[in-house]
Amino acid sequence: MPVEDSERAAAWAQIRQFGDPVLKEKSHQAQVDEDLRALVDRMIRIMDGAEGVGLAAPQIGVLRRVIVFRLDKELNVLVNPEITWRSEETVRDDEGCLSLASLATQVERAEKVRVEGEDLDGKHRVYELKGLKARILQHEIDHLEGMMIIDRASREGRKDLLARLSRTKQPGE
Ligand code: ZN
Repeated sequence: MPVEDSERAAAWAQIRQFGDPVLKEKSHQAQVDEDLRALVDRMIRIMDGAEGVGLAAPQIGVLRRVIVFRLDKELNVLVNPEITWRSEETVRDDEGCLSLASLATQVERAEKVRVEGEDLDGKHRVYELKGLKARILQHEIDHLEGMMIIDRASREGRKDLLARLSRTKQPGE
């Protein structure tokens, strides 16, 4: 479904951008309760409004270990996600971030990962993913550690990203 301009602007206005100190903080363990459900609802609206495939709570200023993401368009929520296994094989590919105005840079990631956590019913969930899907999860879990793609980029990648960022207005504007 296409996103209305007003919805898109409202979503972007709530996404913390690179330079905001909250993005460098480590998030705390989350507990499934009414507050967390309300937070997740808000995160889903913002992710979809900004047409992203994933969002971590610190990106909207909340230091809780919860992420939302879409795999083949299917919505997923993971509370206290942990990468419990990663392949030695890695891949470099372009990766964008909503907290960097959707700009992308080359990032090296494990090709395959196993991620475990809880869903909103408190049920244990295990994901075994590869390729782009594995990349999305590694990216969102990085946010819970205060880590962004700019921290994983090469020196040139970082320079280039900063240069492009300084020329870019926020996509919602
Ligand atoms: Zn991101």
